Amino acid sequence: MRIREQSLARIASGASFDVLIIGGGVNGVAVLRELALNGVSALLVERSDFCMGASGASSRMAHGGLRYLENREFKLVAESTCERNLLLKYAPHFTRPLEVVVPLTSYIKGLPGSILRFMGVSTRDNTLSAAGLKGALYLYEFLGRVEKVLPLHRMLLSRGVFPERLAARYKAVISYFDARIRNPEALVLEMIEDALSASQDVACLNHAEWSMSENGDITVLDSLGGQEFALRPKVIVNASGAWVDRVNQKFGLQTHYIRPVKGAHLLIRHDELFQRMAGRAFYFDDGKGRMVICYPLDRTILLGTTEIQVEDPNDASIAPAEVDYLLSALSSLFDDIKITADHIATVTTGIRPLQSGGGASANQANRDHMIAEDRLIVGSVPLLSLVGGKWTTFRAFGEQAGDRIFGLLKVTRKADTRRRPYPGAAGFGVGEDGAERIALQIASTFGLSPKRAHDLVKRYGAIAADVAAHCAEENDRPVASLPDYSKREIGWLVVRRAALMLDDLLLRRTQIVLDGRCNEAVIREFATILAEARGLDSEWARAEVARCLEIPALIIRSTASLSQEAWHG
Ligand SMILES: Cc1cc2nc3c(=O)[nH]c(=O)nc-3n(C[C@H](O)[C@H](O)[C@H](O)COP(=O)(O)OP(=O)(O)OC[C@H]3O[C@@H](n4cnc5c(N)ncnc54)[C@H](O)[C@@H]3O)c2cc1C
Repeated sequence: MRIREQSLARIASGASFDVLIIGGGVNGVAVLRELALNGVSALLVERSDFCMGASGASSRMAHGGLRYLENREFKLVAESTCERNLLLKYAPHFTRPLEVVVPLTSYIKGLPGSILRFMGVSTRDNTLSAAGLKGALYLYEFLGRVEKVLPLHRMLLSRGVFPERLAARYKAVISYFDARIRNPEALVLEMIEDALSASQDVACLNHAEWSMSENGDITVLDSLGGQEFALRPKVIVNASGAWVDRVNQKFGLQTHYIRPVKGAHLLIRHDELFQRMAGRAFYFDDGKGRMVICYPLDRTILLGTTEIQVEDPNDASIAPAEVDYLLSALSSLFDDIKITADHIATVTTGIRPLQSGGGASANQANRDHMIAEDRLIVGSVPLLSLVGGKWTTFRAFGEQAGDRIFGLLKVTRKADTRRRPYPGAAGFGVGEDGAERIALQIASTFGLSPKRAHDLVKRYGAIAADVAAHCAEENDRPVASLPDYSKREIGWLVVRRAALMLDDLLLRRTQIVLDGRCNEAVIREFATILAEARGLDSEWARAEVARCLEIPALIIRSTASLSQEAWHG
């Protein structure tokens, strides 16, 4: 599947699209997949790259939102835990159970405050107590019983069984299970491929702009190729996340649906801490009722996240005070591990597109999603804005948006995504870890080393076979600055998965930055391979290198030793 080439060919053939989706984050793509599977023609237009917004900046967890129980968001927690369970079953190639360890300083202190908040009498943040958390987890696990796959929580009360050298102030530890999405950006690309394979009547373009003329015609411009296309959709879906109100303004509508809340993560390089965490997440109170999460990715530790209300959805800044806050919170977790700025590999930020309204502080904002319906002034075309939502609930949100569209177009739903495995899960078996078996098959079919076959399966699930076949078509060679990638593998990402700019490749098609392995040599070599795959010259590659060297999140600053790769189950 060549996402861009096939999409451009479908548009150029004069296809008409009933639905225009604006925004290629997880929610826009989930809607595209619903429409494709149900025979509705649709074009998705992303002005930058897929997962450019919040979808590429998340904490990469499929979680039910334990904390939302305090605000009595039961329906959301039930939906989120169910969607988490479905991801574990139908995207086993990228989703794994994640044990979340919560160290607690009190048995019951803070419980009365939590009860008052739960009853809606108070809005204050409270110290988390063991009794309060245990009660909440009974409810969490009860709400999460649909499609149940995860073990139940457990409580530890003796220091002898606590995680090694946990800070002395902790009196109890409770651990429960949520899930880690290892490669969310690749899952979004799989959904695009699923949609394009299911229907000839859908197309999906990244790096494309759009505008609306006074008579209501929409023009889509391929920003890289320069081609323009006109369309008159019957329904428009605004899935632009934090930019929803700005996009509506472009349609001449004044809306205030979004409350943009910025979140930052630090990626930490610290070998000893990485080992100590043993694949578990630690979710802990900073002492003032604010919770911090950290867990090991493949080589680095993800630490976050902050929640700061902002005005501008493009605000990617992070205040030094926030960095200091996160570092000192993490340093307080274990008695003997101090984390300093030298351990920061990089910093990432993203804007949560929460619903407007809710309490005064960002963590009292409503976390649920909703679909707002407006009409364009010209032609009264329905405009559906997707507001709020989490990564975890994208499928349910896409399904709900699909149903609204089917109602508007008077179409009957034919297919359902609830139990539809994602393409990269083929052969894994529902809920089963088939990685080993598939890697062995690929190694033997294509004569690859077991390590190379495993790397490919980890990156692409069952689609690794397609990558390996592409690599075997011509002479291939390892990338000198990062030998576990190969030149033709990068070419595959460019041609098949529409990695058109250098940061698409480094941030959203590979995990090089998250792994803490992006440096100038990597940037230069990837730029050369990308230019060649796109048929562009070395001057273009040099300009891309210069542009990317200015993107702060791309460059790994820490010189601290990097952990050996581990894929924690
Ligand atoms: C720091 C942080 C941590 C998070 N952690 C988690 C987590 O662990 N688990 C979880 O479930 N959720 C998490 N979330 C929430 C989750 O990431 C978001 O709710 C979800 O990704 C929103 O997806 P979206 O598609 O609606 O928006 P986005 O992903 O923001 O997508 C919107 C897209 O629209 C595009 N766009 C904007 N304007 C235009 C335009 N004019 N024309 C065309 N395209 C346009 C943007 O480029 C962008 O790609 C987190 C969010 C943040 C910020």
